[in-house]
Amino acid sequence: MFADLHLHTRYSDGTYTPEEVVARAAGHSLRAVALTDHDTVEGCAAAASACGQAGLEFLPATELTSELEGAELHLLGYGIDTTDAEMLAALGRFQQVRQQRIREMVARLNQLNVPLETETVFALANCRSPGRPHVGRALVAGGFCSSVDEAFERFLKRHRPAWVPKFKITAADAIGLIHRAGGLAVMAHPALNHLDPRIPDLVGMGLDGLECYHTKHNAGTVAHYLTIARQFDLLVTGGSDCHGMAKGKPTMGTVRLPYRYVEQLRIALADRRRKAGDGAPAMEVAVPQSAFRVPH
Ligand code: AMP
Ligand code: FE
Ligand code: FE
Ligand code: ZN
Repeated sequence: MFADLHLHTRYSDGTYTPEEVVARAAGHSLRAVALTDHDTVEGCAAAASACGQAGLEFLPATELTSELEGAELHLLGYGIDTTDAEMLAALGRFQQVRQQRIREMVARLNQLNVPLETETVFALANCRSPGRPHVGRALVAGGFCSSVDEAFERFLKRHRPAWVPKFKITAADAIGLIHRAGGLAVMAHPALNHLDPRIPDLVGMGLDGLECYHTKHNAGTVAHYLTIARQFDLLVTGGSDCHGMAKGKPTMGTVRLPYRYVEQLRIALADRRRKAGDGAPAMEVAVPQSAFRVPH
């Protein structure tokens, strides 16, 4: 029995709807899945309901954009309460900044005589958490580039002329946010981050787990991170990081996490919830009305 705990939908930079993700997961005979869209939980309700119908276990989650000493670090928050006011307020801020970043990237493209319109990107993205892949797809759809890869190479990559840095919260803040929402904080695709020497610091901040299994990890890398997880008594997670058709081929089914790790995750989650319940009552945090809402 296997699980895939790293999946994206069209609510961030994937191409599948939550229902399509679940149907494909059922096709791969997976027992449990988690949605980990970047800086949003919008797809979780639909995925939970589709999983209920398909007889799959579902873990609500998100992949938070954070940084540690200037390096980008994606933190997966598993089992969070997707109605938690503080989490929703933080995600709302991420989304507003992401939308502002799209406007800045389009303004830069316009300065480069590429007459792309902001509304074209928002209409194509049709989600609250848009990113560079949506700008790339809009550049292809508008005939300005022949592929998304070309769009990144010419305009969107770091240090290319339309690149705008991305808003990140500190890793410590992300871990705290995930914990206060009742979830577990897991370092995503550690082999892509080159932050191994910082893992002890992250453990000190409350990191709960390591994504040992990932599409970009080979057998040696998996073994390496399983050893580190054992060393620091961290939970083990894994997933395909499938973005649907966004990156060529869908990767779902290529990485299969042994189901026993999901059971361990659930035990740790129950523990976290119990501890959170024992603590002081959570403060009321107002959810800001987003100045700009992308229609669905
Ligand atoms: P953003 O969150 O807006 O910075 O965009 C990050 C997303 O862009 C990730 O899903 C990356 O995989 C994707 N990405 C980065 N570089 C490229 C590239 N050269 N071609 C296609 N997608 C890319
Ligand atoms: Fe992504
Ligand atoms: Fe990631
Ligand atoms: Zn991801």
